[in-house]
Amino acid sequence: MYDIIIIGAGTAGLTAAIYASRSGKKVLVLETLAAGGQIVNTNKIDNYPGLFHVSGYDYSMKLLHQAEDLGAEIKYEKAVDLIEGNPLKIKTLKNKYNTKACILALGVVNRKLNLDGEERLIGKGISYCATCDGALFRDKEVAVNGGGNTALDDALYLSDLASKVYLIHRRSEFRGNIETVNKLKNKKNVEFILDSNVTKLIGEEKLEGIEVTNNDGSKKEIPVSALFVAIGQIPENNNILDIIDTDERGYIIAKDDALHTNIEHVYVAGDIREKGLRQLVTAASDGAIAATTAIRELNK
Ligand code: NAP
Repeated sequence: MYDIIIIGAGTAGLTAAIYASRSGKKVLVLETLAAGGQIVNTNKIDNYPGLFHVSGYDYSMKLLHQAEDLGAEIKYEKAVDLIEGNPLKIKTLKNKYNTKACILALGVVNRKLNLDGEERLIGKGISYCATCDGALFRDKEVAVNGGGNTALDDALYLSDLASKVYLIHRRSEFRGNIETVNKLKNKKNVEFILDSNVTKLIGEEKLEGIEVTNNDGSKKEIPVSALFVAIGQIPENNNILDIIDTDERGYIIAKDDALHTNIEHVYVAGDIREKGLRQLVTAASDGAIAATTAIRELNK
């Protein structure tokens, strides 16, 4: 029997683990892949108060060790079901656990383009992580798709490696930071292709090019060795969410500022929550709030 099981070892989940462990609770964190969440793949963190020019990986490892040092147990098991009750029951692909409280910090997964060949070409030119795979395309021509901060940061990172970077976005204005857009404008090897979508992937064994369609209907083919897809994230499709209230896009709805969900003793934190700003700082804040609410209610 655990006091609190936290599902997801990203910033929200590990922050919750730090708060819950420090208050003396028996804490288990369940993680499917690697600790750290989305930020692991970020080259440099520049906008977290007190952290400047720290790599996402270094930050994640510090957070993980901090949670472990304070007593949180981490298990790499995919949680697949949550059953209401007192105690709550959580099933993973390997085990079943009982817990008095649960914090859902599942995070999000990368949105796919849903084009023919996308799955087949993953690792053969299609990538969702520029900092992981960018070095494989040194001195090659590559493309980035998306208009948010991930796409902008990816394009900037790749511009120092690749011979040419095409940045393709479906609108004429970027969603991401204007400062990064201005840096990209000053890069001689970056070309913006706006009001356009990637509509076809060319290549059988490996990516050889992409078809780009302008919003006016005109099409062109661009030979590239890699396409970095950075078109946002979506909540993971998980049975756990079957009993949890979500919005129409699948993000968990917090009932109040204390981060309760619709199920008693189940709380939500981080990017999986329906909210306006998804950043490290808001993930950490959610983790602290959800854990503090859970601790207060367990201590009653
Ligand atoms: P995002 O902000 O949701 O941006 C996704 C981008 O992809 C948008 O420009 C969107 O276009 C485009 N898009 C969505 N679906 C598409 C589709 N089917 N086809 C083509 N384009 C599509 O996602 P993100 O850039 O990954 O960022 C996620 C969160 O992390 C954001 O809150 C972001 O600020 C934060 N983040 C921050 C930093 C930083 O502060 N340095 C770095 C990375 C991420 P529209 O604009 O037209 O909707």
